[in-house]
Amino acid sequence: MHDFDEPRVFLAGAGPGDPGLMTVRTAEVLARADLVLYDQLVPKRLLDFARADAEKLCVRDLPGHHPDKYPHIYDRMLEAARAGKIVVRLKGGDPLIFGRGGEEAETLRNAGIAYEIIPGVTAALAAAAYLDVPLTHRAHTSAVAFITGHELPQKINNKLDWEALAKFPGTLAVYMGIARLPILVAELMKHGMDPETPTLIVERASLGEMRSVTTRLADLEAVRRAAGLEAPGLIVIGEAVRHRQPSSWFEQRPLFGRRVLVTRPKQQAEEMVRRLEILGAVPSVLPALEIREPTDWAPVDAALDRLAEFDWLVFTSANGVHGFFKRLLTQGDLRQLGRIKIAVVGPKTATTLRSYHLHADAVPKDVHSAEGLVELLAPSIAGQRVLLVRANRGRETLPVELAKVCTVEGIVVYEQHDALDTESDSYAALRRGEIEFITLSSSNIARSLLRSFDDTLRGRVLRGDVKLVAISPETAAAVQEFELPVEAVSKTASSEGLIRAVIERARAVPKGTD
Ligand code: SAH
Repeated sequence: MHDFDEPRVFLAGAGPGDPGLMTVRTAEVLARADLVLYDQLVPKRLLDFARADAEKLCVRDLPGHHPDKYPHIYDRMLEAARAGKIVVRLKGGDPLIFGRGGEEAETLRNAGIAYEIIPGVTAALAAAAYLDVPLTHRAHTSAVAFITGHELPQKINNKLDWEALAKFPGTLAVYMGIARLPILVAELMKHGMDPETPTLIVERASLGEMRSVTTRLADLEAVRRAAGLEAPGLIVIGEAVRHRQPSSWFEQRPLFGRRVLVTRPKQQAEEMVRRLEILGAVPSVLPALEIREPTDWAPVDAALDRLAEFDWLVFTSANGVHGFFKRLLTQGDLRQLGRIKIAVVGPKTATTLRSYHLHADAVPKDVHSAEGLVELLAPSIAGQRVLLVRANRGRETLPVELAKVCTVEGIVVYEQHDALDTESDSYAALRRGEIEFITLSSSNIARSLLRSFDDTLRGRVLRGDVKLVAISPETAAAVQEFELPVEAVSKTASSEGLIRAVIERARAVPKGTD
């Protein structure tokens, strides 16, 4: 079985930006990496696939970095590999297309270090898919060329290249070509390419920030400049571009290009961020709260020892479910629950409970809040004993109302603390007016965030440049404590409802019209 040792160095493609376009294999090795050496073009978000304690280094930040000199990356890579570490060299797109993967592989070979190369979705493929432009077409385009624009000055006198490219019977995808676009266009036309040839430039393909222009070859530089598209971008030249529609399937996504701030604690932000990305949005994360373990587990442990004394276990959040079972499972197993019945506040909490192989006995049908739970439980639990699982702070509605009909005991299984990083990139983006929607997932989140707002930020909200969207009427009320307007309130107290509220507002106020 063990006659094969997997390599410990991986030259891995990260794809064009969207995490969904990274291969499963790259995600697999990232999860195991001790050291991730990533290119500047790789979105930081992809580093979340690595362990929190893995070392992550942008090659640009290595000492002595120069884009045209690579040895320091090699040194670092070899040193870590020799120390037995698992190293992932993460590169934008595909590692072997203008990614110097070949040079790095050669260095590893020379050093006698085993490696694996993981292909990635290269920029041209992402551009084609996300702009809905077929790189080949049975009717007119039977070849594709990947070209670098970076080497243009050296090769400018190389006639053959230009002639070949100008006559190429297919689509040209030019990487790193923006800086020398005028030369590229002039040379292609000089060597016989039709000035009417359809072309496009796209930047940030596959991401909500994707921008592009389409025009004829002769006008490409002027159109690019007018649109303010700067490097890095990909140039596509050829008949294929004629298929371009006014907007692609991706550009038609309901939140395409809209900047949305997610304020949930870090552990819970991911799911919402992913949903927003798929909707075409440009999400950023600014956690307004932090979830921590309770400082004192003793009361929880005491209650766990007496679980048999309770008739009902009540959960009001997914965090509560995780906190409770994390503790319970360090002490024993699920049998400890005995015949206790379980009530949860809503479908999300019910799903979380299912991940522990348990079904909720009671879930409110429509109103997923303390009020909904009280309405559901109160009629049937008179005189019974309820163990309420909760956070260090939360609304008192549930314990107060339930106590009117039964015996209630509460245990704190997780703590919420205000934790706003006003030095973060997301906060800076907010200050610069680069965020359009702020999603507020709870009253405590709203308070933690809005308390930090100075006159500049308040001004942006008051003018409607930054729109506050609340998950529930309670959260909207928390916003109003700060005398700020709420742009929309979710119809259901869930992330999905919150996102739907953002979509509705975004439809009502098209991008750039306010
Ligand atoms: N190995 C990478 C290319 C690296 S060269 C790949 O396979 O995609 C860097 C160039 O790639 C940029 O100058 C730009 O031309 C192109 N590029 C990379 N990602 C891109 C994206 N998301 N959208 C448009 N162009 C991109």
